[in-house]
Amino acid sequence: MEKEGFIRSLTMLEERGVKVQAIVTDRHTGVQKVIREEKKDITHYFDPWHMGKGEEAVAKWTSVANHIQDVHAHDNALFPCCQHEPLVGERARQWLRPSTAACERLTAILLAPRFLKDVEKISPLYHTSYIEAFHSLIIRFSPKSVGFSFKGMLARLQISAMHYNENAQRTHARTSTVYIDKLMALLFECVVQDAAPYQEHSDNIPVPEPLCGQYERPDKKEAVSRHRSRFFKST
Ligand SMILES: [Zn+2]
Repeated sequence: MEKEGFIRSLTMLEERGVKVQAIVTDRHTGVQKVIREEKKDITHYFDPWHMGKGEEAVAKWTSVANHIQDVHAHDNALFPCCQHEPLVGERARQWLRPSTAACERLTAILLAPRFLKDVEKISPLYHTSYIEAFHSLIIRFSPKSVGFSFKGMLARLQISAMHYNENAQRTHARTSTVYIDKLMALLFECVVQDAAPYQEHSDNIPVPEPLCGQYERPDKKEAVSRHRSRFFKST
């Protein structure tokens, strides 16, 4: 689904004349393959949110191991100290105490060599934390435990987008009623009075066939044995 969503979104942008030069995604392998094989002109970056640029990024990353212990000066010329304001008073955090089990374990994860190698490839400029925030908002309008029709999902995504755009720039979570008032006015003053044009608009929305319809049902025996061999390989 991630790959299909990626292809559709990119196609939509390109159809509307956007020339995409670089793209930042998580490390989804299907998406990586599409960009590598079919979109060779696009530079692909990984998002720092999902990893956890180069040497400086590694220096910043490893500084986190200090930061979580309330140490904000680092023994590294590339990133000698944290860039945040002093975290005192109201801004103080619950720091991890050095040498405790929790601190040791988190530090081991942060500084794992294989992980640090991937940190080198993360995006220098852009990251998708806004998208992550948007995604968690989508879940509130359209819980994953419920299956929605394509148009039902589309409507919920559109409402999520409006809600997000109204609230994203605010420092604290405050619910704005501006777009809700507009929606209510539209609903009761226009749609209820004459639903025909809105129904017509809805009828004209092209609905793609379900993703699962694009795949042939594999032979059960073959699918089971493939799953097993993958399982054994990964262990
Ligand atoms: Zn710090």
